[in-house]
Amino acid sequence: MSSHTDDGGDSIDLAEGVNHQVAMVMDLNKCIGCQTCTIACKTNWTDGGGREYMYWNNVETKPGAGYPRDWEEMGGGWTDDGQERTPGDLPTEDDYGQPWDFNHEQIMYEGSDEPLRPMDDAADWGPNWDEDEGAGEYPNSYYFYLPRICNHCTHPSCVEACPRSALYKRSEDGIVLVDQDRCRGYRYCVEGCPYKKVYYNAMKKVSEKCIFCYPRIEGSGPDGEVRGTACAEDCPPQLRMVGFLDDEEGPIHKLVNEYEVAIRLHPEFRTEPNVYYIPPFAPPQHSESGESLDAERIPRTYLEELFGPKINDALNTISRERDRVRRGEESELMELLNSDREEKYRLEVFE
Ligand code: SF4
Ligand code: SF4
Repeated sequence: MSSHTDDGGDSIDLAEGVNHQVAMVMDLNKCIGCQTCTIACKTNWTDGGGREYMYWNNVETKPGAGYPRDWEEMGGGWTDDGQERTPGDLPTEDDYGQPWDFNHEQIMYEGSDEPLRPMDDAADWGPNWDEDEGAGEYPNSYYFYLPRICNHCTHPSCVEACPRSALYKRSEDGIVLVDQDRCRGYRYCVEGCPYKKVYYNAMKKVSEKCIFCYPRIEGSGPDGEVRGTACAEDCPPQLRMVGFLDDEEGPIHKLVNEYEVAIRLHPEFRTEPNVYYIPPFAPPQHSESGESLDAERIPRTYLEELFGPKINDALNTISRERDRVRRGEESELMELLNSDREEKYRLEVFE
């Protein structure tokens, strides 16, 4: 049974009644913000009516307000002891932003030299609105990309929030799903999820969310092959690993539980996410004349806000292992982080 810890390390903590737990590790040092994952997800799952604004996978620029806007300030999740749910807000339409058309026609066919822009002059927010803005002052400004999906949490506040038990964790792999027949569209799950990864479909009047591409990982496609999630398989730099947290021989278990370099986003929400991140490194700050300074470019305090105190040990471990490689020594950790595509997906071990 889950003990509602926030650290993600040391022990494998499965939810009650769950036999195995799917998990994903994303290496933030490799994300180029291309949004291929977003499009892969959208074309697979959310291109239908009522889903225009839904991004089960989104990639946001950090520091930044994200999607929906300021989701990190909206509450949800659990109290520090993990026993009580904390209240959360329902994002408004403005927090998501309305879909708009761009002036493609003008630029492509009418010879206009206008910049590409939304046709709706009132548009002031939407997915990726603040892309690449980041923070800091030239020449030491900084940003990094943060890809996000539902975390298929071990202690999911969305599940607890639903009075009809329409949300549930599958026993075979811990994927969190919405039973569309049971759902009545109350949206308590949307309020309850601190990551704002449940969306309301106003046309169908039900909640919908990331399904961890379960038909793909079950091998129920036309060729019967077991595959990783679409967001992972289509990622050009292959920065996502997909497997089971409790597969002790797998790379995810090693990165999360042994080396403790793959860490949770906002562990203080206490939902115990099963999506983990290798934290971002950045070049040091430098002076106007281009000299390197002994100062980190991404403020450590900001990274601690995002990933909690475990970030410090994670960054230290990765730095130490990188130095080993520079000295010509072997490092299992660096080999894991730079493994080949076929080693990144281990989904058949529990069949
Ligand atoms: Fe539920 Fe949100 Fe956790 Fe996904 S991220 S399982 S929607 S609480
Ligand atoms: Fe980042 Fe990969 Fe998504 Fe591109 S496809 S935005 S590199 S996670």
